[in-house]
Amino acid sequence: QLSSKDYAEYIKLAAAKIHENGDYVTALDSATGDGDHWSNINMGFEKLVEAIPELEAMNLFDEFKKIGMIMMSVIGGSSGVLYGSAYIGAAKVLKNRDIIENQDMCNILEAMLEAIMARGNAQPGFKTMIDSLHPAVECYKDCIAKGLSEKKTLSLVKSAAVDGAQSTAAMEAVRGRACYQSNKGIGHLDPGAVTMSYQIETLMDYIA
Ligand code: ADP
Ligand code: MG
Ligand code: MG
Repeated sequence: QLSSKDYAEYIKLAAAKIHENGDYVTALDSATGDGDHWSNINMGFEKLVEAIPELEAMNLFDEFKKIGMIMMSVIGGSSGVLYGSAYIGAAKVLKNRDIIENQDMCNILEAMLEAIMARGNAQPGFKTMIDSLHPAVECYKDCIAKGLSEKKTLSLVKSAAVDGAQSTAAMEAVRGRACYQSNKGIGHLDPGAVTMSYQIETLMDYIA
């Protein structure tokens, strides 16, 4: 169970996880893109951390909308628009809610996935952030359907997100800057999939 204050606490942890992986993520986006993904997303999370006093006082619906607006305006690049859409899309799941129940987290991640796919006109397998989020959502739904324990579920969802990000190394890019490369980025991880996996990993650990 997460309140809006808890979600703001998660944001702080995700910001730290992103912050500490700067050189690695920058190297990934330098290999397949224009090298700015880490500085874009890190800047967004820094602004979110600054906004925590405001965020934790909001209801969940307003908090998610506000996170989306900050991300859209601060991150810049493709990922800013996509994360902005993701949070604004997920806010709809949280109308009139005070608490995120464990099953809701699956619906939130699914709403984010749908918003990102619609906004970026992309599918799983296109070598993007979707390739971490989509397997995580599928795994989450599967675990709930099978009635697995919460602990087991959170740990499997986390692995699905991390393995999904790793799976982008073998993919040919269909969206994002890597598709302009002659080899379509094959052999390199997608930076956006890696930062997505950091966020899911941090969230699953935090809930657990
Ligand atoms: P930019 O490419 O504009 O410099 P970033 O470097 O911040 O933006 O983000 C790049 C990441 O955005 C990619 O690694 C990829 O994961 C994601 N991305 C780019 N285009 C799309 C899209 N159409 N759908 C989903 N994700 C995308
Ligand atoms: Mg970039
Ligand atoms: Mg850029």
